[in-house]
Amino acid sequence: MIPPKFDYHAPKTISEAVALLGSLGSDAKLLAGGHSLLPMMKLRFAQPGHLVDLNGIPELRGICLDGNTVVIGAMTVENDLIASETLRERVPLLCDAARLIADPQVRNRGTIGGDIAHGDPGNDHPALSLVCDAEFVLQGPNGRRTVAADGFFLGTYMTQLAEDEVMVAIRVPSFAAGTGWAYEKLKRKTGDWATAGCAVVLRQSAGRVTHVRIGLTNLSQTALRAVDAENALLDQPFNEAAVQRAVDAAVAITDPAEDLRGDIEYKRAMAGVMVKRALHTAWARSA
Ligand code: FAD
Repeated sequence: MIPPKFDYHAPKTISEAVALLGSLGSDAKLLAGGHSLLPMMKLRFAQPGHLVDLNGIPELRGICLDGNTVVIGAMTVENDLIASETLRERVPLLCDAARLIADPQVRNRGTIGGDIAHGDPGNDHPALSLVCDAEFVLQGPNGRRTVAADGFFLGTYMTQLAEDEVMVAIRVPSFAAGTGWAYEKLKRKTGDWATAGCAVVLRQSAGRVTHVRIGLTNLSQTALRAVDAENALLDQPFNEAAVQRAVDAAVAITDPAEDLRGDIEYKRAMAGVMVKRALHTAWARSA
């Protein structure tokens, strides 16, 4: 299928991209890897008159350190996340989870910024960002602002990103020593979005949970942080009863849509299974 006609713009700097968004208005869309936007254009779900391509802006791509924070350029592709030694050392959850996203072809073009900015509840990076306490650096006509992942996702395809803003980078604090982590993603086949997914980051001391984040993928209109489930574990010994309380609290906030991946009852049951598995894996990795 061929997308509708559009004009193509290739800015060389972030400021140029922001200026183009300002002058072209709501008829313009940023183009990153194109693996969500172009299918939507081909299906006529999106019909922008202008595409502003971010691929010619080198400063948007790459992974570096700012003190103890890993700074990931928004145009960094999934395969670069997988290959990054810095990320493997500091936030291994993101390397391992990226392997579960789509297929090698998509991972070669699809960007972390596009995955987050798109606001698709089926995408994996939103829940991963929530459990990593990530922040997003956004540049607009009035300069840069930094927004926490928690609260950024407002609904399906809706985020705090304004129409005239570019996501520049994702800032992720390095995991503290002894942090356990896991991403459990049930999918029908390689390359599919999650039927249900759960990300966990956890720390312990003397058998009690001292820090925990639980994020859910494709189980509501947006990625969810399961705060009540976290509270069921915090300061508690990690045992089956506490895990079950957390599972129940996490499942209680899910509101999945019925589709070809399953009906609501099945998806909620699978949410529980993913949460349980992710908690046990993260606990086993923590020290
Ligand atoms: P694009 O498609 O170029 O853009 C997506 C949206 O984000 C557009 O609205 C665009 O304007 C906006 N945007 C992009 N970059 C920026 C930026 N820097 N600042 C502001 N706005 C921006 N994803 C998953 O998470 N898990 C999966 O399992 C998965 N499976 C897939 C399977 C297939 C077959 C395909 C085709 C895609 C799959 N995806 C999956 C989606 C894929 O990861 C996309 O690459 C991703 O959702 C969007 O990234 P992109 O770089 O391609 O962005």
